[in-house]
Amino acid sequence: MKIICVGRNYAAHAKELNNPAPKEPVIFLKPDTALLPKSMPFFYPSFSTDVHYEAELVVKIDRVGKNISQKFAHKYYSEFSVGIDFTARDLQDTYREKGLPWERAKAFDGSAPVGQFINKKELVDQSNLNFYLRINDLERQAGNTSNMLFSIDFIIQYVSQFFTLKIGDLIFTGTPEGVGSIKIGDTLEAFLESNKVLDLKIK
Ligand code: ZN
Repeated sequence: MKIICVGRNYAAHAKELNNPAPKEPVIFLKPDTALLPKSMPFFYPSFSTDVHYEAELVVKIDRVGKNISQKFAHKYYSEFSVGIDFTARDLQDTYREKGLPWERAKAFDGSAPVGQFINKKELVDQSNLNFYLRINDLERQAGNTSNMLFSIDFIIQYVSQFFTLKIGDLIFTGTPEGVGSIKIGDTLEAFLESNKVLDLKIK
């Protein structure tokens, strides 16, 4: 499986990192080794001193497809969760300045913890879904899918032009504003509507 990530999909987050709102989606990939096995802590990597959390709605693909039209995109997924797109911001800033690829900053082992999935039938309206991140019991991010620059179905149409989507692939749909640093000892909890889907310790 592969993990497809959308960057800068919320205008307020693009702004907080001094990026313009994009005209088409910014896409990058993480390998399957970026998935953090359930119930494992996240071990702070030795190569960074500024790892950031980015809480994101995650869509699980459950049907194979290529060149999917936006109209039929909803047939390719039935479950949502929240994941964390961990980012070594110090490395990313260096690579960005030099115009180099981001993978070492974004795709390292364990950089993609994903919570429990919830069937979309249990959620009222996917274009108006709330998700939250709490760190040590304080709310640090609150997102709503209505603020996405590119909708889930548009993203599926867009990425499936380039990459065949396969069963089990995950799409991280971008983070809202409020990203920041984690530190060893933190506890991260992610919620999708009122459901706690992720509980993660930083070690
Ligand atoms: Zn992200």
